[in-house]
Amino acid sequence: MSDIVVIGAGLGGLLCGSILARSGRKVIVLEQGIQSGGALQCFVRDGIRFDTGFHSVGGLESGGALEKIFRPLGLMELPWERAEADEGFPFLRLSSFSREVSELEREHILEPYLKGIWRLRGGGQTLVDALVSDIRARGGEVLLRKKVTSIERGVVSCQDGSSFSGTIVSDIHPLTTFGLCRDHVRPSYLRMLRSRADSPGIFSVYIKLKPGAVEWHSGSIFLDGRLMIHFGDPDSEGRAISMSLLSSEIRDGEECIRLAYKRFSSLEGAVEKYWTSSPSTWERYTGTPCGSAYGAAGFISPRTPVAGLYLSGQNIGLHGVLGVSMSALATCREILGNEAIEKMFGL
Ligand SMILES: Cc1cc2nc3c(=O)[nH]c(=O)nc-3n(C[C@H](O)[C@H](O)[C@H](O)COP(=O)(O)OP(=O)(O)OC[C@H]3O[C@@H](n4cnc5c(N)ncnc54)[C@H](O)[C@@H]3O)c2cc1C
Repeated sequence: MSDIVVIGAGLGGLLCGSILARSGRKVIVLEQGIQSGGALQCFVRDGIRFDTGFHSVGGLESGGALEKIFRPLGLMELPWERAEADEGFPFLRLSSFSREVSELEREHILEPYLKGIWRLRGGGQTLVDALVSDIRARGGEVLLRKKVTSIERGVVSCQDGSSFSGTIVSDIHPLTTFGLCRDHVRPSYLRMLRSRADSPGIFSVYIKLKPGAVEWHSGSIFLDGRLMIHFGDPDSEGRAISMSLLSSEIRDGEECIRLAYKRFSSLEGAVEKYWTSSPSTWERYTGTPCGSAYGAAGFISPRTPVAGLYLSGQNIGLHGVLGVSMSALATCREILGNEAIEKMFGL
């Protein structure tokens, strides 16, 4: 018997797990995949580590929105590095990567970004590994290959026949959550969930470079409103060894690479090998409907009409590391109450 059962070991699920474990709850996180992290996971090809859904974040300056959440959780100890300002940001990012930007997104995601941008050495996986270790160190568990297939009266059942009970936090898309839920849910709530549009998915090209052939950049570059270019960690001599190209409209690796030549002419002849992923790859790995990159539009409460079932993650509010962290705080506030969150975060 656990106090809290978290569905999904994406950033939202892991942050909720860590905060709730720190408040003394017995936490179990169930992840369908073979590794934790969801959109923050990294993969290795030909000895090179590639990030998937994390490149940089804002809000980590002293007193910044993310720093206020990460410092009490010990996450400011991670190897964050200040990056150069992004080229072409924010205007191209708004038009090419996001759905229409709300005032809250502008205030909580874009403005912190303009104050400063941070990368994380080791990529999103560094953050994921720290959160998994924190949950385990506090007596919690993060179990992999646990695909949740149903939720009913506080019991979460998995494909392998195991089941877990407790207060439930779902880090997966609300429509998927209620597709699994067998408890009665009023139709108007489900209609409201169905009315929320999902943001588009992203096509990515992961490139292994010939070392030193292309100049390394710490910040991201937004090109022609159609392509984001990001470099992975450099080698020990500071040379670029990998880059990722991301587009919400181009669906062809060669076309993305040709477009990137416009900014990096040295890229021609410097591509040793490349791999691609499409929105369907994302859907397969994270279960996100249509591989939506930034989740569903609009804000909904972490509290649901089903007693003991809460939501978190990018699909209930803001996306990205900062947005998902704010959602995790909102979810934990519903479960623990204001006082506990104020004590832990001063917020
Ligand atoms: C290409 C791309 C680039 C991005 N770049 C940035 C960036 O530079 N900076 C930034 O801040 N943000 C970025 N983001 C956004 C950021 O990655 C996401 O907002 C965030 O990681 C979402 O976390 P989450 O916990 O809400 O969801 P997810 O990461 O999707 O986690 C959900 C988890 O639930 C698991 N799951 C699903 N169904 C089940 C089930 N039935 N049973 C058990 N487990 C299940 C999934 O496997 C997954 O691990 C990017 C996103 C994309 C796609």
